[in-house]
Amino acid sequence: MRITRDNLVFRMDKENDYVLKANSGDEIVFETCDCFSDSIKSEKDLVSGIDFDKVNPATGPLYIEEAEIGDCLKVEIIDIKLNNSGAIVTAPGLGRLADRIDSEETVICEIKNNEVDYLGRNLPLNPMIGVIGTAPSGEGISTGTPYHHGGNMDCTMVKKGSTVYFPVNTKGALLAMGDLHASMGDGEIMGSGIEISGEVRVRVEVLKEYDILPIMIETEDKWITIGSEKTMEEASKIAIDNMVNFIVKKTKLSINQAGMLLSAVGNLRVCQIVDPNMTMRMEIEKKYL
Ligand code: CA
Ligand code: CA
Repeated sequence: MRITRDNLVFRMDKENDYVLKANSGDEIVFETCDCFSDSIKSEKDLVSGIDFDKVNPATGPLYIEEAEIGDCLKVEIIDIKLNNSGAIVTAPGLGRLADRIDSEETVICEIKNNEVDYLGRNLPLNPMIGVIGTAPSGEGISTGTPYHHGGNMDCTMVKKGSTVYFPVNTKGALLAMGDLHASMGDGEIMGSGIEISGEVRVRVEVLKEYDILPIMIETEDKWITIGSEKTMEEASKIAIDNMVNFIVKKTKLSINQAGMLLSAVGNLRVCQIVDPNMTMRMEIEKKYL
């Protein structure tokens, strides 16, 4: 099953019409545009030429038959395929160096031999999904904004081999995704990574009983909680509280003991600090649980 890249939404919204129905256990390919709706074709295409009504498109949404409000949607990222070139941009007012940028610039980066060619430097390829989520419980939310449903989390751990757990806030869950990056550093300080189109193969599964506190990510060796809120402090608090609650549920440790464990071997990290909400994550290696 496949959703083509002409099925785009710019809001995660329970009112969105689904474009495909799947069952728990199915594999689906989402073809995705880059965050500029594929409008940057050369280094002459600058931020000022972008249609800001068409940024951060997400492909979908996918309706999952078994998903009911209160369930957890497990999304295994089986594969991410990228186009052969990406773009990174800057402009005055964008990102955390905004006060020091006085002209616009676009750099096109070719992808070859598992590397990203950035101005003649070879950067490691780290294909990841910037925007992914289910419909939020209340009003629709712009795909540019990360919140408790997911959205524009720009988390480098949302990559091939990872499993992401989302809340189901409406019947069918309405999963959508887009905004792939060939490479992005934690923080995404300038507001863009190496933005690229491509396709993502996922397997979806509806969990009726679960210990997970969405949004969580599971990798081969780590558990990760995610928080997105107005400030880094508030986002951190969600990620930390959820991880402590998760450890208490999964082990016989008290809150005190779970907190001390996290303080000793857990890592609080930045996902991004440039979107309308900030996103932080708390990581712990599975072996300590
Ligand atoms: Ca993004
Ligand atoms: Ca992006």
